[in-house]
Amino acid sequence: MARRPASSKKTSAKGKPAKAKARAGSKPAKAAGRPAAAKSVAAKPAAAKSAAVKSGQWVYVFGGGKAQGRAGMKELLGGKGANLAEMANLGLPVPPGFTITTAVCTAYYANARKYPKDLEKQVDAGLSHIAKITGRKFGDPANPLLVSVRSGARASMPGMMDTVLNLGLNDETVEALAKQSGDRRFAYDSYRRFIQMYSNVVLDIEHHNFEDILEEHKSRANYTLDTDLTADDWIEVVKLYKSRVEEEQGTPFPQDPRDQLWGAIGAVFGSWMNARAITYRRLHSIPESWGTAVNVQAMVFGNMGDTSATGVAFTRNPSTGEKRLYGEFLINAQGEDVVAGIRTPQEITEAARKESGSDKPSMETAMPAAFKELTRIYGTLEKHYRDMQDMEFTVEQGKLWMLQTRNGKRTAKAALRIAVELANEKLITKDEAVARIEPASLDQLLHPTIDPKAERNVIATGLPASPGAASGEIVFSSDEAAELKAEGKKVILVRVETSPEDIHGMHAAEGILTTRGGMTSHAAVVARGMGKPCVSGAGSLRVDYNAQTLQAGNVVLKRGELVTIDGSTGQVLAGRVPMVEPELSGEFGTLMGWADKVRSLGVRANADTPADARVAVRFGAQGIGLCRTEHMFFDEARIQAVREMILSDTTDQRKKALAKILPMQRGDFVELFEIMQGMPVTIRLLDPPLHEFLPHTEEDIAEVAAAMGVDPKKLGHRAKELAEFNPMLGFRGCRIAIAYPEVAEMQARAIFEAAVEAGKRTGKPVVPEVMVPLIATKAELDIVKARIDAMAAEVQKESGSKLNYQVGTMIELPRAALMADEIAQSAEFFSFGTNDLTQTTFGISRDDAASFLGIYTQRGILPGDPFVSIDQEGVGALVRIGVERGRKVRGKLKVGICGEHGGDPASVAFCHEVGLDYVSCSPFRVPIARLAAAQAALGKKAAGEA
Ligand code: ADP
Ligand code: MG
Ligand code: MG
Repeated sequence: MARRPASSKKTSAKGKPAKAKARAGSKPAKAAGRPAAAKSVAAKPAAAKSAAVKSGQWVYVFGGGKAQGRAGMKELLGGKGANLAEMANLGLPVPPGFTITTAVCTAYYANARKYPKDLEKQVDAGLSHIAKITGRKFGDPANPLLVSVRSGARASMPGMMDTVLNLGLNDETVEALAKQSGDRRFAYDSYRRFIQMYSNVVLDIEHHNFEDILEEHKSRANYTLDTDLTADDWIEVVKLYKSRVEEEQGTPFPQDPRDQLWGAIGAVFGSWMNARAITYRRLHSIPESWGTAVNVQAMVFGNMGDTSATGVAFTRNPSTGEKRLYGEFLINAQGEDVVAGIRTPQEITEAARKESGSDKPSMETAMPAAFKELTRIYGTLEKHYRDMQDMEFTVEQGKLWMLQTRNGKRTAKAALRIAVELANEKLITKDEAVARIEPASLDQLLHPTIDPKAERNVIATGLPASPGAASGEIVFSSDEAAELKAEGKKVILVRVETSPEDIHGMHAAEGILTTRGGMTSHAAVVARGMGKPCVSGAGSLRVDYNAQTLQAGNVVLKRGELVTIDGSTGQVLAGRVPMVEPELSGEFGTLMGWADKVRSLGVRANADTPADARVAVRFGAQGIGLCRTEHMFFDEARIQAVREMILSDTTDQRKKALAKILPMQRGDFVELFEIMQGMPVTIRLLDPPLHEFLPHTEEDIAEVAAAMGVDPKKLGHRAKELAEFNPMLGFRGCRIAIAYPEVAEMQARAIFEAAVEAGKRTGKPVVPEVMVPLIATKAELDIVKARIDAMAAEVQKESGSKLNYQVGTMIELPRAALMADEIAQSAEFFSFGTNDLTQTTFGISRDDAASFLGIYTQRGILPGDPFVSIDQEGVGALVRIGVERGRKVRGKLKVGICGEHGGDPASVAFCHEVGLDYVSCSPFRVPIARLAAAQAALGKKAAGEA
């Protein structure tokens, strides 16, 4: 079913109260009244809007082969309005209309919900413009002009007002429509749609009022389908609708078309501040100052019988990227029927119909002329916009009308294929293709899928709405999904369908399963955007919210039981199923190749284990930027020796313990170096606070004591001594190497011996980079470096092999950044440890930040979590200083970054800008960093636009 998130309207009992509430709180003061002019327009619109404000042009017309606006004016006209104007300029069949600008929305809120004083006049002029083209007049009882009122912000935004169609109908004009069309049934069908839509959207009267009336009428007359109703039936239903409206709101349904129009306009602007819209803006960082536009457009009718229809189409498949028209349409219907999903839509192309096995004709066979026109137009639009388009259209008695186009939302997989194919078709350049992929979206491709060898207990098959597979406990509500996620559980959100109110639950879930809705349903579109697996429209499943069960035939799964969904095939499986790592498509390789040609910033991986290193190489890492050796110490088999080492009283004891660790550590490095085949590997000496390794239970202490042959009491005492008040700022980092140089010596020996051995085995000797953590002064580094250099000399002598290595340091304390010139006299490379640098610059412990950081970001005290995206101003200033001062002393100083930030696209752009040599990030983020680095070099952000 062709649904859109922006218009996903809830008809289930559950959706209504929330929606009604959301709107009730934000209803514009004068919902159905004429505009009250503000005394002065003191709005402070955003810079680019100001020109329009100054000129006092609040309304931009389109239609008749031209328009005042164009695609580049989204800021002022909203996405829908700008593209309607563009299509009109292209000479495409667009019903004429006008756009009330986003500047009006801004002014409206800046002036206590009053409109600019010229607005009413300009709207009237807009109506005259439509009248001139259509030959119909708004409010004319004999020859009425009917319009739709459509909201349209800069970015498509669920939570905004739903579209109102057929506005301008009343008891008089409906008769004129009947006479002119010669079809009374059509006229009253349009009128009842209008009353229901307007009442719901503008007057806040819940849908069920109208649904109940219609159902009662149908059952009285023994009808099953809406299409069974005759003209007289609809006349009767309209009467009942109008009295229900009067009962509900105390006044009759507005009959004056101008009141209707201003009511609808007020509702659009009012919806900018409703709860759903505000939440959506917060989640997507859309500023309130953007405002929404309102589009008023002449109606065309898809409900004028069997030669009329309405539909949506993508110029390429938004799921796979395949170059083929993809979409659905409904004969004899209006826009909201497609949205409501009451009837099953038909395929557009004959090829798609054959594939789906549908017995209903495709648009290609049912409406060949309109189909041909659509084919011509979509080719034009793709060439013009140079991107895949998502279009809405209506066919009125055989004639095709375009109602919307925009760059279509797509999965990451589709985005890659489309970008690569558009470049190969020479519609865009390779650089543009690189710029178009949202780096973070690559995550979607790196998700696991179900192991093909796994046994599949398929209980249902729905639509493959968003790729990837996931397992988790079944939950039936978004609140519950969020709660369980907070407890560390993995959940699959199971719903009949989702709505914008479910966003938080979808965020929390591993995957989403719905029993209703199609490939373009809310669940599908939002899941694709989030990169989460989704199976939608699994119609054979029964969800019972009361009983908290999911039923498939005679299989009943309860809340909390495990289920697996495969968003690539649409399968729903009972239980947890084994997964495999993703295979990367040809387009992925192609595009990453283009990206690599463009970027200057190197990309390495943070990898501690051979498994990490293999993934890193597979994803194109150019080395290891951070190997944390402590992970090797925590191993079950080794921790004992590590504890002995830490708790030793004497250097001799310590050396004995270290001797046990040495071969293991060397073995780790040999494997790592072999995998990296001569690429650089940065190894950090032991960093974490010693107490992290200590035995805590009596039992553990006794075991270590026995192994060391010492008194457990004494050992317990020593363990207590090592406990710290603030370990993050305690006995850690280079402080360990300074207090116990033999630890650093053992590590250095392991590294160098491994380098020699791996070099012999692979013929590609690595250049190990030995990194000393938590340096604050040059003196510290000098002491540790001396030990490392001495060890290197020893190993060279023993092995007779020449060693190539470097000794450098992490810059992760503000003092180190400030003293970088001094430190660079000894350090051969720097690696900014931006996790610790952020902690120490802000004085915020990352592990304790959760309790207050949320408040900071919500209130805008911080723009975002500085541990996720680097604080470019503060922490960034230290990075700049460090680079600058370091390179002043050592011109070719190699500088990288190895915090979490290395995989965050905005931080990668920053690293490029300050001239780092490389970023290092977790292996799965390597492709993201490669792409982000390329985009930084191109000086472009990904062209992400709705
Ligand atoms: P959304 O943003 O929810 O997609 P739209 O404003 O695009 O809302 O309207 C939804 C649907 O309503 C359109 O796809 C189209 O089918 C129908 N519609 C809107 N305006 C008109 C119009 N002027 N004539 C005919 N149908 C219309
Ligand atoms: Mg639309
Ligand atoms: Mg650190």
